[in-house]
Amino acid sequence: MQITKDKVVLINYTLKNDDGEVIDSSEGNDPLAYLHGAENIIPGLEKALEGKAMGDSVSVTVPPEEGYGTFDEGKVQAVPKDMFEDAGEVAVGSQYHAAGPDGGYITITVTEIGDDTVTVDANHPLAGENLSFDVEIVEIREASAEELEHGHVHGPGGHEH
Ligand code: ZN
Repeated sequence: MQITKDKVVLINYTLKNDDGEVIDSSEGNDPLAYLHGAENIIPGLEKALEGKAMGDSVSVTVPPEEGYGTFDEGKVQAVPKDMFEDAGEVAVGSQYHAAGPDGGYITITVTEIGDDTVTVDANHPLAGENLSFDVEIVEIREASAEELEHGHVHGPGGHEH
């Protein structure tokens, strides 16, 4: 069986940045399960896995355009400090969820604290990064009707409802 649209794929992976630092890995956890062709994973990785088979190893470096996007200065802004009144202690690196433009949630990260303002960054933490993946394909199976309907995988490594 090969990886094509609507297959459930289980992978072990290690993700490194340009400096060779490991920033994410499935090591010590269940393999990651995703539904191929459903935008569960970043486009560049999905493209690299297309057509591969169980047991294959794939190494790919994904540029920001096919990863979490380029870094957008426009998403960095200073907001009045009193907006954080109810949020408790605010520190550099604190993360908050905010309503995004398309109705979903975005994560904003505090990058600077001034006297009256707090600078927040709504870029994805990995925006602007080249992402190097080492992937091992552990399993490929057909998706269930329910998984196709939900657009994600159920069970180990996937969604637990
Ligand atoms: Zn579901």
